Amino acid sequence: MPNSSRCWSRAAIRKTKSNRQKASGTGTDFAAHLEAWYERERRDLPWRSTEDPYRILVSEVMLQQTRAQTVIPYYLRFLDRFPDARALAEAREADVLTLWSGLGYYARARNLQRAARAVVAAGAFPRDYDRIRELPGVGPYTAAAVASIAFGAPHAVVDGNVLRVISRVQDDAGDIQSPRTRARFQQIADGWLEGRRPGLFNQAMMELGATVCLPRGPRCTVCPVETFCQAHQTGRQHELPVKGGKRVADRIHVQVMIAVRNGSVLLRRRSAAETLMAGFWELPAPGDLPGCRSSRVIGSFRHSITHHHYTITVLEGAVPAVPLGFHWRRINRLAGVPLTTITRKALGLMASAPGAERAVATHGRKHG
Ligand code: SF4
Repeated sequence: MPNSSRCWSRAAIRKTKSNRQKASGTGTDFAAHLEAWYERERRDLPWRSTEDPYRILVSEVMLQQTRAQTVIPYYLRFLDRFPDARALAEAREADVLTLWSGLGYYARARNLQRAARAVVAAGAFPRDYDRIRELPGVGPYTAAAVASIAFGAPHAVVDGNVLRVISRVQDDAGDIQSPRTRARFQQIADGWLEGRRPGLFNQAMMELGATVCLPRGPRCTVCPVETFCQAHQTGRQHELPVKGGKRVADRIHVQVMIAVRNGSVLLRRRSAAETLMAGFWELPAPGDLPGCRSSRVIGSFRHSITHHHYTITVLEGAVPAVPLGFHWRRINRLAGVPLTTITRKALGLMASAPGAERAVATHGRKHG
């Protein structure tokens, strides 16, 4: 691989780090854009007109694994029959299950009734995250939703929708099934939420994931946070989030320079210490050649090594002096020289290009 690609990799790592810092540094702007959009565009859903923790809990439990439009009639009928925690706590289980019938996952209904009984036994709905989390059937996501929407507690909700949004906005290819990635994304979401109105911010994130940043067809052209979204900028939004360790391909752009003089081409031998293609000969990158002048772009091609996808642009140019480590190699003797695959493809491209240095057509045999 050309030297420039190694430089690029280091630069890319620096860029990625700086982008991550930038994303966290712009958390306030990100949140402000998101919330303004949410207040403008949000769907009119019945659970959005209340701050009653019981009603919010009912909606969040019903919305687990079920679409909002499906939930609406069930939610309205359920609350008509059981308007508060006491009514639900005192109901016959058969009546609860009848009203739940059609929503599926009946353990949710039983747990909801157990939660209502715990609330009645406690004398009031718990106000803080940890105590809400202790209610039967209430996980971290539901607890964060109820605590933030009903009580303004600063806990970011992180469910599948939110994981998807974060992985794309951050262009983060971490496996969202891994606890470490989830903990990192939780930190990011908590950072974005800092200083905001927690309930508003959380609902805006959920709405973005449910209506705009869709799993298979993200609607980036109408997205309120498109300018903050790094995956959109790199074009990787369709590859994210990563689930189950599937790696996202790295796309890398590099340039190589073909300098020809008196029937020879300028090459460098890769050091024996290289992990890839040690001892093979390769073309320089323009950055390797101080003072070089590029006269034209010959063309470009793609080359993949495992999950690295390279796009190589081949330039033709002249060098004022030969830098240390480079040598002129006779073009008509390259058949006996081990060339890297990228170099072989680049020389082949030049040989087939109009107006090419025809002698290059005799370039070397296949290696690597
Ligand atoms: S720009 Fe596209 S990928 Fe990024 S958050 Fe918006 S919808 Fe999702």
